[in-house]
Amino acid sequence: MVEDYPRTLGDLEARFSSEEACRAYLFDLRWPDGFRCPRCGHAKAWPVARVRFQCASCGHQASVIAGTIFQDTHKPLAMWFRVIWLVTSQKTGASALNLQRVLGLGSYKTAWAWLHKLRRAMVRPGRGRLSGRVEVDESYVGGLEEGTHGRGTAKKAIVAIAAEEDGDGTGRIRMRRIANASAKELHAFVEDAVEPGSLVHTDGWEGYTGLRKKGYKHKATPVKDRKASKVLPRVHKAASLLKRWLMGTHQGAVSREHLDYYLDEFVFRFNRRTSRYRGKLFFRLLQNAVAIEPAPFETLTRGSRGRKKRTPKG
Ligand SMILES: [Zn+2]
Repeated sequence: MVEDYPRTLGDLEARFSSEEACRAYLFDLRWPDGFRCPRCGHAKAWPVARVRFQCASCGHQASVIAGTIFQDTHKPLAMWFRVIWLVTSQKTGASALNLQRVLGLGSYKTAWAWLHKLRRAMVRPGRGRLSGRVEVDESYVGGLEEGTHGRGTAKKAIVAIAAEEDGDGTGRIRMRRIANASAKELHAFVEDAVEPGSLVHTDGWEGYTGLRKKGYKHKATPVKDRKASKVLPRVHKAASLLKRWLMGTHQGAVSREHLDYYLDEFVFRFNRRTSRYRGKLFFRLLQNAVAIEPAPFETLTRGSRGRKKRTPKG
């Protein structure tokens, strides 16, 4: 599919002022090779009403926004497009407060909820794992908000970080909040984030031992605290940029509970930081937004990674 996206705000406003234009754009993103019935895969459909298509084979009615983050929205798509532009056109993104002010959204809460919906689309469904030589480390992120009175450590979270080596520079990264720095948590993160067969470079922490048994090459370099940034420079750089972003753009108004969504956004931005056109991020975000599959009933009984949960007996 040709990557077709607005280059400027003027471009965006000229192209996407009507719902029809927004829907047509989403249609092309969702079905780049033409309509496919989400139920039976048939390629022929006819329009029903203004926003639906009916499969010519099984009769299933599909709409371009059903099953996407726009599904239950009461606001015009044109407004969503503007928000997505605002979020993607600036290198550091937008806070809920920015959004509320710039777009005149009714409340802070609405702006916050929109940003959270968009963050869900910042992880491409089925994205691959990092590969090659990958640095992995954990970092403590402090200054977080806590909704209820927590324990003394509640304002801090531990974030596991993986960063690909790309010559002297950094390739793609992954980040995730982990409960603690145990082998169980760290191994699970590595297995989610890094392709087996890759070389994982860590410090000497015992939580990383045993990675070889899981199919990784493992290089452990013991460090004294002060030199950690020299031994694993890429993860340390990413960690400091993350902290700056949380305190800068979001003024530290991030709760530990929601940190994962902010990490998704940070990773989305970081991995596209060299994109020449910001419009490309607009394109990617919308592409992910319509690629998200609806949650059919049977998936509700499964765990978050698609494994079947055991039905409790009794
Ligand atoms: Zn069908």
